[in-house]
Amino acid sequence: MKVLAVETSCDETGIAVVEGSARHPDTGGIDFEFKTLRAALLSQAHLHAEYGGVYPNLAKREHQKNLPLLFREFEKEEVDAIAVTYGPGLEPALWQGITFAQDLAKKWQRPLIPINHMEAHLISSLAQEGRLENIKLPVLALLVSGGHTEFVLMKEWFEYEVIGETLDDAVGECFDKVARMLGLPYPGGPEISKLAEKHRLQEESSRKGPRVSPPVPFLRGREAGPDHLLKDTSFRLPRPMLTSKNCDVSFSGLKTAALYALRGKKLTEKERAAFAREFEDAVTEVFVAKTRRALEETGTQTFVIGGGVAANKHLRESLQNLITKEFPDVEFRLPELSITGDNAVMIAQTALARLLSGKQKENGAEIRAVGNLSIAA
Ligand code: AMP
Ligand code: MG
Repeated sequence: MKVLAVETSCDETGIAVVEGSARHPDTGGIDFEFKTLRAALLSQAHLHAEYGGVYPNLAKREHQKNLPLLFREFEKEEVDAIAVTYGPGLEPALWQGITFAQDLAKKWQRPLIPINHMEAHLISSLAQEGRLENIKLPVLALLVSGGHTEFVLMKEWFEYEVIGETLDDAVGECFDKVARMLGLPYPGGPEISKLAEKHRLQEESSRKGPRVSPPVPFLRGREAGPDHLLKDTSFRLPRPMLTSKNCDVSFSGLKTAALYALRGKKLTEKERAAFAREFEDAVTEVFVAKTRRALEETGTQTFVIGGGVAANKHLRESLQNLITKEFPDVEFRLPELSITGDNAVMIAQTALARLLSGKQKENGAEIRAVGNLSIAA
């Protein structure tokens, strides 16, 4: 079975054709193989850079322009169904993909399958090397992106419960805003990550050799942990909600703390790296603590992370450490870096997973863009 998928929820225009098959059709279990036959992706990130975030009307115009250009490569494809992201995301952007997919479905006389973008992050992260197999339920997913931050529990296939989420900003947005405060380009997540990594490496090598770095001004935040004096950084940011007895998180206070800490200061390159590292540590410590809690509370068998921020190396390594040391019976599925960002392959894979297991949503002739669509809808 082949699906052509269209993704336009944010600032990436994606079209992909993926072939999927059930490896043991008679057993009816979830054991699918996906093969990407063609995939095209155009990022507009550089255009949004000057706004420091995604500018919805610009995104809409770019999708409108890019979809027909990308589609040229797909004109001769023969597929069984068309899938399209209908939310969550920026509604003007989503509509571009939806109307394009609706026209195509009509022209090719194929069913149109509406797909939830966050579900697609989850399902595509679960599928490894193109295979969705051997997955034990319940699955716990930590979905972290530019617009969303949530812990999702899947007890039955394709049925989701949000067991924790951000009370304010998404973590990706926080990465981007703090990066901007540090004078780094958009999208800031990868930039912060690079700087933080540099600081960790410098610290490691200076630990081996003699220490020469002079102290920089000390900034103390709330909820300072005991380990901060050991680090070669004098910046200290809060770990919001670290000890709250739920799986919710909050990042607006961290963003404000970063703003105050940086206000009126001109950082050296080394201080900038130290700050990026402290910020990344703060975010990661919160996610490790909340993941521990979520795993303890849910009896999860499989843990997966997805979304743009799931590309973050320090977060990946810290969560891997947590699982290895404290939850050795839980299987951790880390997505390949190529699929953590938005793309149409994940939309096609999710449509195929639903179609092959008979769980597809209604034929989407009446699809509407739903900007704040929940994965539990
Ligand atoms: P998405 O909304 O899923 O497209 O994810 C985009 C978000 O992921 C943006 O906020 C990026 O800054 C963030 N991001 C991408 N790579 C990284 C990384 N390595 N570390 C932290 N954040 C990242
Ligand atoms: Mg996304």
